[in-house]
Amino acid sequence: THAERPRAVRTNLHRRSLDPLTAVRNLGILAHVDAGKTTVTERILYLTGATHKRGEVHDGTTVTDFDSQERDRGITIFAAAVSCVWDGHRINLIDTPGHVDFSDEVTRSLRVLDGAVAVFDAVAGVEPQSETVWRQADRHGVPRIAFVNKLDRAGADLDSAVASIRERLGTVPLVTQLPIGREADFTGVVDLVRMRALVWGAEIDSRTEGPVPEALSDEASRRRRILEETVAELHPAALEEFCDRSSVSDTTLAAALRELTLSGEGVVVLCGSAYRNRGIEPLLEAVVAYLPSPLDVPPVRGTSGDEVEERAADPEAPFAALVFKVTSTATGRLTCLRVYSGTLRKGDTVLDTGVRRAERVGRILRVQADRHAETDLAVAGDIVAVVGLKSARAGTTLCAPSAPLLLEPPTAAEPVVSVA
Ligand code: GDP
Repeated sequence: THAERPRAVRTNLHRRSLDPLTAVRNLGILAHVDAGKTTVTERILYLTGATHKRGEVHDGTTVTDFDSQERDRGITIFAAAVSCVWDGHRINLIDTPGHVDFSDEVTRSLRVLDGAVAVFDAVAGVEPQSETVWRQADRHGVPRIAFVNKLDRAGADLDSAVASIRERLGTVPLVTQLPIGREADFTGVVDLVRMRALVWGAEIDSRTEGPVPEALSDEASRRRRILEETVAELHPAALEEFCDRSSVSDTTLAAALRELTLSGEGVVVLCGSAYRNRGIEPLLEAVVAYLPSPLDVPPVRGTSGDEVEERAADPEAPFAALVFKVTSTATGRLTCLRVYSGTLRKGDTVLDTGVRRAERVGRILRVQADRHAETDLAVAGDIVAVVGLKSARAGTTLCAPSAPLLLEPPTAAEPVVSVA
């Protein structure tokens, strides 16, 4: 019932205005099998109110795991997109297969997303498969933040997980949280950017924000200094500002963290326990604060005849979109696509660039966890599913017949390396 759902959900229900592009996040969740990708996705959908059910992985009722083959194999191979709303932002979650056997699908989903959360297990740290997906994301220039999950497990250790991120992924971790309590007693985090504590209660949805606990005050200050120093080393402009002042403001620090995330020079690290629903709201806040909107990423490139053309994420430009997944459902053939430029309207005729065939767009759907919401149009930056297209396949470019464009083929995937 309503009363049992978290407050954030009720707030979000009143913010259904058309999202400007800056409020869109096309997000992927990348993880080694078993690190907790399904659970993290599930909690995000629950918190954002996209689903009323709280699915649990072990009883097979989760809403993202609905493909039967996937359920049988216990791994996520169904790459689709689910849309939800958080704090006035539309977050399109693009499913990325966690298994390297589905490398082509990984590549296609990495192409259509703008930013990602990489999930790690707090006991295992970086595993071989996480390395593979991380490198693929590097090649596609996908800005990332890291979420060290399962902090409630026996043997969980944020510091050693962070060390493995530094050593195995060759990136600079920017740790923005200090856990409160260890293993089964992990109850919250100190946010080192705002220097506030967030503690979750026994009730799964209850949380309280307050000052940093006395006992953790020195440790939090020490870690905040480490964070500031790391940022200053990577970011000379920020360094100058830091030197000018006796203390660094939260907004300066957050802005520098965003720039480092977008340039790929560092990775913001957060932690939590998805299973216990701890750490998911700060994760969503970080997605909104640090990861790019469709306007922050470079224009897409394609060819028109012999000409190379760039298309910015402009709703007024000619329409161009990339199909990244086609599925048969009870609703009919669903073509999932990302609009890169222009506007797509119900009833439009679009050109399938590959086979040079014009097709009519039937219904346009925004895929949500437990239902499909129909919409009249989709603009640049949007991810939607279209009903009624006959020929489009994964990888197909769709464009305005008056402005043909073939989007660049994805970067060749690295040879798949088998890992134990
Ligand atoms: P995926 O394979 O990456 O999608 O991982 P799942 O979300 O299916 O999680 C794998 C297993 O880890 C499941 O049994 C989950 O219940 C469990 N799990 C996920 N998150 C956590 C967590 O935060 N703490 C603990 N202890 N277990 C978790």
